[in-house]
Amino acid sequence: MILRGPWPRHGAAIALLALTAACVPSADTGIGPAAPPIAGSPPPPPPRAAVRADFVLTGTAEQGAVMTGLAPDDARTVTFDGQPVPITADGRFLIAFDRDAGPGARLVATLSDGRRVERAIAVAAGIWRLEQVNAPYRGSASSDADFERRRPAELAQIAAARAMRVDSNGWMQRFRWPVAGRLSGFFGSQRVYQGKPGSYHSGTDIAAPAGTPFVAPADGVVVLAAAAPFTLEGNLLIVDHGMGLTSAFLHCQRLDVKVGDRVVQGQVLGTVGRTGRVTGAHMHWGLKWRDARIDPGKLAGPMGE
Ligand SMILES: [Zn+2]
Repeated sequence: MILRGPWPRHGAAIALLALTAACVPSADTGIGPAAPPIAGSPPPPPPRAAVRADFVLTGTAEQGAVMTGLAPDDARTVTFDGQPVPITADGRFLIAFDRDAGPGARLVATLSDGRRVERAIAVAAGIWRLEQVNAPYRGSASSDADFERRRPAELAQIAAARAMRVDSNGWMQRFRWPVAGRLSGFFGSQRVYQGKPGSYHSGTDIAAPAGTPFVAPADGVVVLAAAAPFTLEGNLLIVDHGMGLTSAFLHCQRLDVKVGDRVVQGQVLGTVGRTGRVTGAHMHWGLKWRDARIDPGKLAGPMGE
């Protein structure tokens, strides 16, 4: 048996090292002398991003209105009246004030180092059309046996749709009206029966002939498309615009989209109709952020713009 020593391999390794070393440029090549400073101009300061130390809010703090916001830099969580509010990677979020929201609200951000940034918001009262009726309040009209039998399943379907969480940036867009026409019913309007308020109108009604196409006011995902008319809402369509903001379209004649469809602003969703409990063809457009009822007109602005 011949034992081979380590020498030949060691020698090869040394040769390889020498070869490698020969390829490395010497220290005084490649890097030239530093450029001489230009007389009279101090070196520019290193770039530094502006720090956002507080919340930045856009919109009007008012009953029935929506606001978008930017969280302070380094915010890990944001709460609105104690409830967590999701924020995007660059700190954007959405909040809204119910038609009957109280006069004050509070935003709290918790930063990664544990510090808290708080912002108290004064919520202005909305102006609603109230109609005084000199008659006793009679409760909700005509609830027959058929309605009582069908209603729980309809409400469960609506609740399940609203519980879905979708990924959409529609909430960041400027909303447009789903259909053009005369406003025939106003958000928040309410009859008051000898001092006792009835329920208020939860959306905006737009008069339009049956069969008129209506479009998505903003991007979103369909979370409910009634397969058959609901007792009150008729052919109901609900589109989620992300961040808990949803549009409901009631009394439709026809729906052209189905649950799970991703829709874009301006896309035709169906046609105006007179299904459900209505007196004539119109589009009832309702908007909600979570459980808060929002005035569509405050989001879409004046019609025709
Ligand atoms: Zn209505």
